[in-house]
Amino acid sequence: MAIQIHAPVNRPVERDWRSAIGRGLRGCCPRCGQGRLFRGFLKPVESCAACGEPMHHQRADDLPPYVVITIVGHIVVGGLLLAEKYANWSMGLHMAIWPALTVLLSLALMQPVKGGVIGLQWAVRMHGFGGEPASPERQPLPPSVQQS
Ligand SMILES: [Zn+2]
Repeated sequence: MAIQIHAPVNRPVERDWRSAIGRGLRGCCPRCGQGRLFRGFLKPVESCAACGEPMHHQRADDLPPYVVITIVGHIVVGGLLLAEKYANWSMGLHMAIWPALTVLLSLALMQPVKGGVIGLQWAVRMHGFGGEPASPERQPLPPSVQQS
């Protein structure tokens, strides 16, 4: 029989991931919603100008392009199939619309989606957003864990 001991744990306050993602989607700091999140098209600021929250350790990496590909793929392929079924478009019209729509949608969605991903990372305290170093595996183990 296992005995469970519930010791008091110092847990950090939970962050609202919905508002953090929403602020990121709008290009605002996920913490305060006031400062800008990007200083370039896809380059986040070093830290929020309004609240000082560091952003340099975000690691959105490849997730924003994957999300954008999924969204744009569903819109473009769905639209193409609907146009094929219900409209009698020429091949030239298809070739004019779908590649251009793909490029425009991808460019329009990339920054908001990256902001949303950074907002999610902030909300769940990933990659240094929890106040601890971004790579805890590189930190020395505390004395209570070290083996002698
Ligand atoms: Zn801020």
